[in-house]
Amino acid sequence: MFGESFSLFRVLGFEIRANVTWLFLALLVTWSLAAGFFPFVYPDLTPLTYWTMALVGMLGLFFSLLFHELSHSVVARAHGLPVHRITLFLFGGAAEMESEPEEPRVEFRMAIAGPIASVVLGVAFYLLAVAMATVGLPEHVAGVARYLGFINILLAIFNMVPGFPLDGGRVLRAALWQLKGDIRWATRWATRMGQGFGLLLVALGFANFIAGNFVGGMWWFLIGLFVQAAATASYSQLLTQQALAGRTVRRFMTADPVTVPADATVEEFVEEFLYHHNFDRFPVVRGERLVGSIGLSEVRDVPREERDRTRVEDACEERIKENTIEADMKADEALNRMQQSRTGRLMVTEGDRLVGMLVLKDLLRYLDVRSELEPD
Ligand SMILES: [Zn+2]
Repeated sequence: MFGESFSLFRVLGFEIRANVTWLFLALLVTWSLAAGFFPFVYPDLTPLTYWTMALVGMLGLFFSLLFHELSHSVVARAHGLPVHRITLFLFGGAAEMESEPEEPRVEFRMAIAGPIASVVLGVAFYLLAVAMATVGLPEHVAGVARYLGFINILLAIFNMVPGFPLDGGRVLRAALWQLKGDIRWATRWATRMGQGFGLLLVALGFANFIAGNFVGGMWWFLIGLFVQAAATASYSQLLTQQALAGRTVRRFMTADPVTVPADATVEEFVEEFLYHHNFDRFPVVRGERLVGSIGLSEVRDVPREERDRTRVEDACEERIKENTIEADMKADEALNRMQQSRTGRLMVTEGDRLVGMLVLKDLLRYLDVRSELEPD
């Protein structure tokens, strides 16, 4: 979502990443603190002081968002749901999970962990501010800690709005799920609340805009659009996960795919495979063992006059983790992987052996047909 992200560091075994949009937020926050908020609350200080306070405030905000997401991730991991990375972006953070919780209790604990962590951190910053004032530090120094205390409480309140996929929406979903035992129904209502809240923010932004508050209005407008889109996307993701639940890659793969023997020459490959079948890439095998894959780009790398002397095995792209998948892997995880790496085809293996091909189009077609037959 929202373009490029880059890796920052690892903490507690989680990879922490920042989206390019986070840089925008960092700049905006630093600037509005240095040029607006701090000079307004603590007048008559030097610009250097304001910018230092703003920088500390921005780093504190970064730490606060990270602390919030880490608390979700630690609880998720404790319940056996692996979280690989945490990405901070324009409107906060997201812990990326491979699968959703399987019972409402787990969903509830995971969701509530974030706001609780933010409240705890908020109170800690307030106490720090009080302690700083008590030992006689200048008021504006304690002021940065007080600002961070306020931000964390605000973060907790905003996230507790009962609209999916915000934390409060997840809590609501867990409650509805517990009540009726139907996660689809629970998600549908929690999502509608999320979409409604998103639209409310958009309207609020619009009203602010008309009233002349352009920056604030635009901000609410964008957050509203984001919440609305995230609610809709999370819901369709859940439907997909459920449609594929309990099914493995084996169920969707094409067995006995067309394979190229490792000893064939590149010339033979072009004549007998590339010109004859309607595929871009072909698995290369020695016996049943998968060696790699070959397509047009590898053929182009071999000079024309050497094509009848070069063996496919020496020209092909080697078998790598990114282009293969185990037959017993869950189908929804396979779909996630294909969408994230933008691959349309994966070679399906059992250990060393090639057993089939998984084609994204086939998976999507299955989902389409299913949603036609079982509309929501
Ligand atoms: Zn959260």
